[in-house]
Amino acid sequence: PPAGGVRGRFAPSPTGPLHFGSLLAAFGSWLAARSAGGEWWIRIEDVDRGREVPGAALDQLRTLAAFGLEHDGPVAWQSARGHLYAAALERLLAAGDAFECHCSRADVAATGGVHRACRPGARRPDPAIRLRVPDGRRAAFEDAVHGHVAQDVGREVGDFVLRRADGWWAYQLAVVVDDADQGMTDIVRGADLLDSTPRQLLLQDALGLPRPRYLHLPLVLGDDGRKLSKSHRSLAVDAGDPLPALRAAWHALGQHASLLPARGPLRATLAAAVAGFDPRRIPSGPVPAIALHNAPA
Ligand code: GLU
Repeated sequence: PPAGGVRGRFAPSPTGPLHFGSLLAAFGSWLAARSAGGEWWIRIEDVDRGREVPGAALDQLRTLAAFGLEHDGPVAWQSARGHLYAAALERLLAAGDAFECHCSRADVAATGGVHRACRPGARRPDPAIRLRVPDGRRAAFEDAVHGHVAQDVGREVGDFVLRRADGWWAYQLAVVVDDADQGMTDIVRGADLLDSTPRQLLLQDALGLPRPRYLHLPLVLGDDGRKLSKSHRSLAVDAGDPLPALRAAWHALGQHASLLPARGPLRATLAAAVAGFDPRRIPSGPVPAIALHNAPA
């Protein structure tokens, strides 16, 4: 078992430099793990080669190091873990929980984007593989910040993709396989993934994997009041000056500004943050990214 009984992770997609939203996920998951005496791992989620920006993963790792967010274990790269996803997919196919889908994008769009059954007679050389989600299949969990979360996955999502028609692994399958294979006990990440979690629970059940604890951090809104997009370059954090961004993230996590030293080295600020962190103070509502520019000192 991991140190302190807790192993958490930060799992960025290498789609650009770390911005305030990803820093919040990194710092929040790091604080949750470290304040519990636990481990914190990094996993680069580079399965979607189409969205990947060359050099972004190394840039993100350098930024995390500059922020003093030290990790345990080796950095995992999803692009090197395809054999694990393939083995899980084989099991799901053999059990009849997954199936080849020959529908086109237009077929799925025609049913409101929710896949329930393949269009009769549909045939394509490169079928996607989907998890079968029967009508009325629900999933529910207790989130440490958002409380009881439930979704009728059958009605709202339908059969969902595990391996895409272009051959790439879907996030949902890779994340579930990796979190279990790496022994993650605590998933702390952004609320943009709150509605992915029910799908991940169904996959855990189908694969007989343990269910970790979940804590979804508040969404970060851009200056325009809209959700910060993953590739929002304008809000990239400055690796040369970590303290303002760390203070802003601390504030966005609902923590008391007075618990951090007013000035001093990064190391002392991080130690004070670990000692003072209280996950019960994390707000559920969205937080403005603008806090970065006028963080309380
Ligand atoms: N790679 C995902 C992202 O950047 C995060 C996955 C996770 O934390 O489960 O949005």
